[in-house]
Amino acid sequence: MPPIGRRGLALALLAGAALAAPAAPAAGAAPVKKLLVVGMDGLNWDSVAAANAPNLHDLAAQGLLGRSLVQCPSVADSSSGPGWSTIATGVWPDRHGVRNNTFVGKQYGTYPDFLTRLERADPAYATYSAVDWAPLHNQGTFSSAIDTRVTFDGDANGYPAEDERTTADAAARLAAGGPDASFVYLGNTDVVAHASGTGAAYQAAIEKQDQQLGRMLTAVRSRPTYGQEDWLIMVTTDHGHRVPQGGHGGCGIDERGTFVLAAGSGISAGSRPIDVRQVDVAASALAHFGVATTLDGKSVRVRSTDPFDGLTLRTRVDETGIPATLAGWTPTAPAGWSVIRSAMPAGGVTEWRGWSFTTDEFWSRAQSGQERENALRTRGVFAVADSDEFADKSGGTSFDSTLVSPAYPVTAGSTVRVNYVTHYRQEGSQKGDVLVSFDGGPDQLVKRYVADSRATVESLPVTVPAAAATMTVKFRYYDASNNWYWVVDDLRVG
Ligand SMILES: [Zn+2]
Repeated sequence: MPPIGRRGLALALLAGAALAAPAAPAAGAAPVKKLLVVGMDGLNWDSVAAANAPNLHDLAAQGLLGRSLVQCPSVADSSSGPGWSTIATGVWPDRHGVRNNTFVGKQYGTYPDFLTRLERADPAYATYSAVDWAPLHNQGTFSSAIDTRVTFDGDANGYPAEDERTTADAAARLAAGGPDASFVYLGNTDVVAHASGTGAAYQAAIEKQDQQLGRMLTAVRSRPTYGQEDWLIMVTTDHGHRVPQGGHGGCGIDERGTFVLAAGSGISAGSRPIDVRQVDVAASALAHFGVATTLDGKSVRVRSTDPFDGLTLRTRVDETGIPATLAGWTPTAPAGWSVIRSAMPAGGVTEWRGWSFTTDEFWSRAQSGQERENALRTRGVFAVADSDEFADKSGGTSFDSTLVSPAYPVTAGSTVRVNYVTHYRQEGSQKGDVLVSFDGGPDQLVKRYVADSRATVESLPVTVPAAAATMTVKFRYYDASNNWYWVVDDLRVG
């Protein structure tokens, strides 16, 4: 391990450097930050839960498990190139540019992997990546700026053998001295699911990978300096598999399924937040080392403040393609918010009668393949006005509804920003108006949507009039009749 040894020595000689030498932190010194991210390809969490996988189960019990869904066409396939690129970079495929396993369009120069970002923040960090799906190194998903890149070739030599070599290499390096930040990839689970679906062979492959994860965790915990170190351990996957036949790439819920497991200081045992997404791995890794970022991801240690995420959700009423047991929508706004439905017709699909609040899974299952899956920057529960789904039952002939925020305190004469995440798809004469009202006065138009605005983060400046004390934000979706939809999430005024 020459590069890591060399860095460790250089670090030890830097008296007073921001980072203590891993081998000998002074008594009372801050713990040395350490990171291990293990990537397992094509892992359905439901299959993990059903397997004899004590190491994965223990991490989920001792730490955080966040389940969510990834993108699908037209944005990018639910496949490995896009998935690992999202995990590495902390941004969605519409930014990192990888749409499938050709890697054509990759934007790694603009959006490098988290180990490369760590090197740029401080080259003294010892970084390590080991993979046996070679494109992750050869395509630069994890770049040549990483101190030690170890590449095995599962496609040429078989993933069972190469996962073993990857594990052995990682465990040896993690046990002593070793890297500050590591990414280790294991691939056999995906190959098995492609070959034989998500049955017994897949379960056996998961159990084998769980043992390999266990060897890495044992190496970490047996370090002589472990007691002086602050480890963040994460396990994640790039995509799921169709159940039971296997395969992925499209818009099905199982193939889009992913998860982030995270254990470390400050993470509550057994927490199951709904606001964690695949982009959060890189952001969490960098936040652990105090590196500031402006990625799509946020640290898994930080919870969303979005009041929609606290709503109690219901099962389907008129929708037919959604499992009857899936609680995923409500017409009831959070405290302080309201929905105006007085201009809505009497009929239509109950779930979408005016603005309602829903999840990625519930809304995606309402109708697949119409870009509902690609509201990428939402988290947890979001608001949606969907004239297309509303019209699927007689009487859903027109749509005019307004979502009304609480009255936020503002400073007279200042400029405030209306920040939110949106996903707007245009058809016909439909419109989406963002309005503000000061102290209950008349509505003022801030923005009107009349063209697609997909997976967008908005920050609209608004001038507060003299003497105004509060501002209410309204989202009116109208002039719509079996057209498309508008999504709003995470409104913040400030
Ligand atoms: Zn695959």
